[in-house]
Amino acid sequence: MKRELGIARCGLACCLCSENDRCGGCGSGECPDKNWCENRKCSIEKNIPHCYGCGEDCRKGMLSKIKPYAFSQFAKRYGKEALLDCLEQNEKNGIVYHREGITGDYDDFDDAEKLIDFIRTGKR
Ligand code: SF4
Ligand code: SF4
Repeated sequence: MKRELGIARCGLACCLCSENDRCGGCGSGECPDKNWCENRKCSIEKNIPHCYGCGEDCRKGMLSKIKPYAFSQFAKRYGKEALLDCLEQNEKNGIVYHREGITGDYDDFDDAEKLIDFIRTGKR
């Protein structure tokens, strides 16, 4: 885990992304998807660094997907450092963020609250 890459504006984990050997993270402006990313554009316009720091209950762009939405909700509730701590601990316990391409152990969820519990406890 490259903890220093942190969490993307949308909530995805740049620190664990399989692309992070060639991308310096969302904040670097190197993300291949940066030109169409609605969350990037909107949060820059609002002058906030991440969607989890936004007061709106929003499902725009990447937040329409369970994973970035749940990660953002987690950071909103417990803070970014707590999210990074849990991701780091889970990784040590064998939970893989990107197992194949861009899917892994955090992707098989259809309920954001269940995913939040999984991030927090490492257990299903
Ligand atoms: S590709 Fe996107 S999610 Fe992956 S490290 Fe770059 S900005 Fe982060
Ligand atoms: S309105 Fe939505 S996309 Fe825009 S900064 Fe807030 S959470 Fe992010």
